[in-house]
Amino acid sequence: MTGTGDVSKILDGRRVAAEIRAEVAEETARLISKGIRPGLTVVLVGEDPASEVYVRSKTAAAREVGLSGETLRFPDTLPLEELLATIDRLNADEAVDAILVQLPLPAALSSPDTVARVVERIDPRKDVDGFHPMNVGRLWQRKPCPVPCTPSGVMELLSRERIEVRGRRAVIVGRSDIVGKPLAALLLAADSTVTLAHSKTRDLPDLCREADLLVAAIGRPAFVTGEFVKEGAAVVDVGINRLDRAEDVARLFPNDEAKAAAFARSGSVLVGDCDPRSVPERAGRYTPVPGGVGPLTIACLLKNTVAAARARRGA
Ligand code: NAP
Repeated sequence: MTGTGDVSKILDGRRVAAEIRAEVAEETARLISKGIRPGLTVVLVGEDPASEVYVRSKTAAAREVGLSGETLRFPDTLPLEELLATIDRLNADEAVDAILVQLPLPAALSSPDTVARVVERIDPRKDVDGFHPMNVGRLWQRKPCPVPCTPSGVMELLSRERIEVRGRRAVIVGRSDIVGKPLAALLLAADSTVTLAHSKTRDLPDLCREADLLVAAIGRPAFVTGEFVKEGAAVVDVGINRLDRAEDVARLFPNDEAKAAAFARSGSVLVGDCDPRSVPERAGRYTPVPGGVGPLTIACLLKNTVAAARARRGA
């Protein structure tokens, strides 16, 4: 089998994301007909190129489904007090339903305490990322709240691709606040038996091989190999890593002409946390990178924006 794997096994994030975006567009049109235009405001501090790309695609996707999408840009010299004052102003603005402060913040604002102050300043009802401690608590208590977009996207994908999670053993590798931990809460609520693994976990391949559902959210190119995968398990690869050396591309995508051409064109290609040579062979179903979890994150951001508008404006 080549690096592209067996197409019939693919969990198609692009298709599911398009489905969600169409539903959001419909719901947005319904709200607009009642005089409510849901609005997402993104706050971007500094000039991190990756953040620029993410922010542009978030606001473009918002406008495509009929939401109002605005970006407020600030230099990386922005004092913390001004950032907090901006958030206060957005909290008070009736037309703003969802506030997203793009992370990572620039070096001067990136200490854990500062990031916490910023996140906690957002009105929890407008916290479209679901990172506010009140929403984190509500998620674990299974109360309605905005759910972090990437884990929410994973759950949408599993449910719409009819991957049974109830009563199944799920292993998530990666315990970040934005992916691993909230996904653990969601899978637990869906009656999976959940294990969260991380960099100090011993015998990781053995542990992972117990999983009916294996999720990789690590940030290390092709780290999870076929050896980690129980035959027939569902594997969700959250990782997005850029390969910028020709030898890595040739090693991880042997005989893959499309990847070689993409590399020649742009100087890099993406790979997930799962090895594209060996994981598709053993998995029953798996997400490709790109085209797996990635498209769902933005789709769920749009969904959260509309839900925030509905909840806050009583529609
Ligand atoms: P993160 O905050 O850096 O967390 C990485 C996690 O992986 C940590 O819990 C870390 O363990 C664990 N880890 C690192 N090395 C490990 C090893 N050798 N063995 C086992 N566990 C290890 O990363 P993140 O923000 O969750 O993102 C993870 C990946 O998902 C990245 O590639 C990121 O680009 C991607 N991502 C994609 C989307 C999307 O839309 N598809 C969204 C968000 C993130 P410790 O806690 O012990 O350090």
